[in-house]
Amino acid sequence: MAVARQFQGPIDLHAHSSVSDGTETPAELVRAAAAAGLGTIALTDHDSTAGWAEASAAARTEQLTLIPGMEFSTRVQYASVHLLAYLFDPTDSALLAEMTRVRAARLSRAEQMVARIGVDYDLSWDDVLAQTAPDATVGRPHIADALVARGHARNRSAAFANILHWKAGYFQPHYAPDPLRAIELVRAAGGVPVIAHPATRGINDVVEESRLKTMVKAGLFGLELEHRENNPEPTAHLYKLAAELGLFVTGSSDYHGTGKPNRLGENTTAPEVLDRIIAEGRGSAPVYG
Ligand code: AMP
Ligand code: FE
Ligand code: FE
Ligand code: ZN
Repeated sequence: MAVARQFQGPIDLHAHSSVSDGTETPAELVRAAAAAGLGTIALTDHDSTAGWAEASAAARTEQLTLIPGMEFSTRVQYASVHLLAYLFDPTDSALLAEMTRVRAARLSRAEQMVARIGVDYDLSWDDVLAQTAPDATVGRPHIADALVARGHARNRSAAFANILHWKAGYFQPHYAPDPLRAIELVRAAGGVPVIAHPATRGINDVVEESRLKTMVKAGLFGLELEHRENNPEPTAHLYKLAAELGLFVTGSSDYHGTGKPNRLGENTTAPEVLDRIIAEGRGSAPVYG
């Protein structure tokens, strides 16, 4: 017998708040999701769960379903790979240790980047702090906001296209675990891992078939193939691989408030896929508002 679903659509499983590099607080984000007509939103701040409590309270008020999540920074050589994780235990000590290490690495990396940019442009670390919520996961978007405030760039996107682009010479990578280890950590914490925007680069870059198979063995649940930054050719290829390997496909906006053009609900996830995520997620529960 089918059990009645407790959540409603449309479902958007990737959005950021000011706990990382979104421009709205977790409560404002949930209100924006309700105003956009969404029934379910996942909060997926980079390397942090600090927004879960505030977003949960807002979801109850707005009568929206909240899926607690995170976008975990991982890395293969120089390529950064983002891993969405849903419904994991936010107190799991192994996962927490890795999140703390990544956030610390992001902080010193941002300080070093700003020191180097500051040689050529009028920009200080205080300028970046002024753009960053207390204890937020720091990233290039906060440096971009500081560059905009100082008049060195028109907006975030322009800063990314110029001063923050690796070609400009100020870019620096930061420590992040291998995606395989991240998948294992997320599963061990009862969570459900999905590779975020896996087709933004070339076809054989990161999610090449043998690597993907290894990740499936480690517990990978799915691929976020419906995302505006995925390129058509590798996306089509990954759709085939997903079908072969039994991976689920998700779709989402990757909303960052006014920090990016992405609009809430511009891509959505099928209710059957969210049913599976909820069935497999054992570390925390959806908030049914
Ligand atoms: P980082 O992880 O610090 O290297 O910064 C990457 C983050 O910046 C990602 O979360 C992206 O969402 C964000 N980002 C990348 N490109 C842009 C852009 N053109 N405009 C605004 N945000 C961007
Ligand atoms: Fe981001
Ligand atoms: Fe991402
Ligand atoms: Zn994101």
